[in-house]
Amino acid sequence: MHFIPAPPLTQSTGSPSYWLVFYRDLLLVSTVDRVTLPLAGDGGWFLELNPLRRLYLGTLDGCPCLAVEVGQDAPLPPGMSWMDLRRLFFAAENLFAVAGRAIQVLNWDRNHQYCGHCGGKTSPREGETVRVCPDCGLEAYPRISPAVIAAIVRGDEILLAYNRTFKTRFYSVLAGFVEPGESLEDCLRREVREEVGIEIKNIRYFGSQPWPFPNSLMIGFTAEYDRGKLKLDDGEIIEAGWFKADRLPDQIPGRLSIARRLIDWFVESRRPPDRP
Ligand SMILES: [Zn+2]
Repeated sequence: MHFIPAPPLTQSTGSPSYWLVFYRDLLLVSTVDRVTLPLAGDGGWFLELNPLRRLYLGTLDGCPCLAVEVGQDAPLPPGMSWMDLRRLFFAAENLFAVAGRAIQVLNWDRNHQYCGHCGGKTSPREGETVRVCPDCGLEAYPRISPAVIAAIVRGDEILLAYNRTFKTRFYSVLAGFVEPGESLEDCLRREVREEVGIEIKNIRYFGSQPWPFPNSLMIGFTAEYDRGKLKLDDGEIIEAGWFKADRLPDQIPGRLSIARRLIDWFVESRRPPDRP
């Protein structure tokens, strides 16, 4: 689906419109044939929802689309169900980006009704996704937290680690949040040094992925091992090691995630060339 973003106050015209309805981090989806977004205008289901907030997001395939927050008492319309955003990532990749934007804009709007500096009531400004304090002028834009993630390679091996924060036992590439004042490259060198005690070189940009849990942007790199011995940060890393492309651990990140794309890139780059 093709999404064109717009600031929340841009007035939409026309009906029907796609509604991205969230209760907490659960998205209302139609599950009759496959996972799709409900179109308001099909029956009267959307009139019953009593939205807590409703923000214009832009257009999706030419139709206006709205981010809508509802409370616990919102009825579940027939043929629809609540879907966790992480499940949506694997069930309907084409909806993930717009759903990720919707929940982040809803969270931002809810959490910035009052100024963080002077406590004044904020208001939106036409033409931008921003809330402004009329008393002191503070502007609150949706916050995005950049995080770096990297495939670190040593010859024909890749570094994978089992991190304490993972809910189940699996191995992935290293990642960490960027701190104020840091470049992405500095952040990556620091994270790798802190987590596994080694130095890296030849950092190259790989790609990026919005990750709305709750408001990250994953920025992917490839890098090469430079020097040092693996020395794990016990507080964060349970296990880490070097793995050959044909001897990867059984449990690695699911397809579509940038972590998995980095691992797939490594496997592909180490494949022997086809003989003529
Ligand atoms: Zn203020």
